[in-house]
Amino acid sequence: MPSKLNKAVFLDRDGVINEERGAYTWELEDFKLNTDLIPALKSFQDAGFLMVVISNQGGIGKGMYTKQQADYLHLHLQRNLANQGIEILEVYYCPHHPDETKCICRKPDSLLLEKAMARFQIDPKQSWFIGDAERDIEAGVKAGVKPVKIHSNQSLLEIVPLILGTSNE
Ligand SMILES: [Mg+2]
Ligand SMILES: [Zn+2]
Repeated sequence: MPSKLNKAVFLDRDGVINEERGAYTWELEDFKLNTDLIPALKSFQDAGFLMVVISNQGGIGKGMYTKQQADYLHLHLQRNLANQGIEILEVYYCPHHPDETKCICRKPDSLLLEKAMARFQIDPKQSWFIGDAERDIEAGVKAGVKPVKIHSNQSLLEIVPLILGTSNE
């Protein structure tokens, strides 16, 4: 019997999950969840979407902060959301900076999306990538998922109808 594939909403981090503040963010005190994040993620989850974060964290490659610091922040994020009934399956990030390392995991490349899709048996055709940068959109297109570009720090509630298929447009 063929196993059923999952659908997912992939989310960029800075500017989508938390406030894009025009600087690298690795301290808890600088990490502010965006308005309406919680109800929007709840709507995706209730509609059966898995949720995975895909982020470029080039500040690590630049030596501004460590992987351990990034992991700590992401654990905090996952626990905070879990306390509100929301499961983020994984936070995948590219730790490289293009000035230092040539890699294939940094968006606009799609390796991290593909890793997530293989691990969690996700069907790209039923899935979305929400990002606030052109490289997010490019990565989504490469991975075969439907891209949605928002403005940095835009309310995600505004795109819930599109993703749930309840939009009138
Ligand atoms: Mg962003
Ligand atoms: Zn990388």
